[in-house]
Amino acid sequence: MHDLNNNISLLRQKLGSKLCILGHHYQCERVIRHCDITGDSLELARKIADIEATYLVFCGVYFMGEAAALLTRPGQQVFLPDDHADCMMALMASGCHVHNVLHELQSMGMDVIPIAYVNTSVGLKAQVGAFGGAVCTSANAKDVLNWALKTGKRVLFLPDKHLARNTAKQLGLDAHDWHILRLSGDGILDSKEDLGAKRLLIWPGCCPIHSQMRVEDIRAAREALPGCAVYVHPECPPDVVDACEGAGSTSFLIRKAQSLAGSASIKRVVIGTESNLVTRLGLRHKNELTLVPLKEAYCPDMNAITEEKLLSLLQSILNGQGKPVRLKEAERAPAKAALERMLAICQPA
Ligand code: SF4
Repeated sequence: MHDLNNNISLLRQKLGSKLCILGHHYQCERVIRHCDITGDSLELARKIADIEATYLVFCGVYFMGEAAALLTRPGQQVFLPDDHADCMMALMASGCHVHNVLHELQSMGMDVIPIAYVNTSVGLKAQVGAFGGAVCTSANAKDVLNWALKTGKRVLFLPDKHLARNTAKQLGLDAHDWHILRLSGDGILDSKEDLGAKRLLIWPGCCPIHSQMRVEDIRAAREALPGCAVYVHPECPPDVVDACEGAGSTSFLIRKAQSLAGSASIKRVVIGTESNLVTRLGLRHKNELTLVPLKEAYCPDMNAITEEKLLSLLQSILNGQGKPVRLKEAERAPAKAALERMLAICQPA
């Protein structure tokens, strides 16, 4: 273990300013300690433009590497320590399936604007971009959905049915306004009548990690830790979000823990999201808070990134044998348009 740490440090020194290692907050401690930049999906996407390094190593799942490759400049290359680590939710909506659904809705006479959660493939983002839609993250889903609803078109939000409804509720929509699509193998089973005048059509995907959280878990946490405050990620089911003190993106949860650590009123905090992040926050604030996970929930794909794989990747890059993420040229421009539309909608104040 000690050798792994030293060997990675040695290779980082050798690659010097040519290398930048990015890490998503769900990475384990042994990996995150090697990262130059950490963040959630939105924070990392925003930082790509300022990175001067030639080799960007992305410690995260496949769609994150693809999104980074979309935003890099000519001459920069993006590498993943494990190309097979993919997001289970992203796999629930293929670009091809979404293409068919969008055209099916269009053939029913519906004017639809798609919103793709960032946890999707570049192929899917390209379909969304080609239809004039935008990407969103959990940090800006409300702003992006609001933008889409204001176009007056029906919105197709994909692939996370929980994030879609949690966000729609923040904008004052309810179950009368949305419809969760029933999918066939390559299209939809719903008829025009089923969809009626619904303003929001929702893809039936979800994150298997956050979907495990239950209202009973919140009840049990409140019994075990009287007076605790519970915060969850909006990929959790809507009844879980409704039963807690607040919900928000990964960066929101980090800021919330920070602010509670500085407050005198709350001393017990329960957080429902990926367990690597909750464990890290618990250690960071151990002197001020009892901070525990709502449920043990590790993402196997995020955890597929290990120091061994990072070391092996850095060796390959140094030997000129690393395999960078390659995008299909035809998908690059429309997918980038969807990502840039998000960045434009959500310009920081
Ligand atoms: S935690 Fe869920 S959304 Fe995040 S990478 Fe894992 S499966 Fe995908």
